[in-house]
Amino acid sequence: MRRTAESRFWRRPFDADSLPRVRGSVRIHEDRCKGCAYCVEYCPRGVLVRSERFNLKGYHPPDVMESLECAACGLCELICPEFAIRVEQLEPAEVDRAS
Ligand code: SF4
Ligand code: SF4
Repeated sequence: MRRTAESRFWRRPFDADSLPRVRGSVRIHEDRCKGCAYCVEYCPRGVLVRSERFNLKGYHPPDVMESLECAACGLCELICPEFAIRVEQLEPAEVDRAS
């Protein structure tokens, strides 16, 4: 896992290796985005980054940089004020295929 500033303070459960990995797929509706970057700032896994592209409204939508790190927590979907993000939890077979 990529070490973000926050992750240094996280505890790792003793049985982490025996648990199935939960992963998500993030889809961004770019033209709804208003570039607030809440999703970038608050993603606990550092999955999203601000892009240099402009959307139709003239804002910078996020890019998904670390797609395999998404834990499908749904925080970005919940926090986005423009309902511009959808997160779907991947099936275990899809996680194995992607890794
Ligand atoms: S939280 Fe929503 S509106 Fe804000 S940057 Fe992310 S996708 Fe765009
Ligand atoms: S679902 Fe959670 S881990 Fe995945 S991109 Fe959104 S905030 Fe980050």
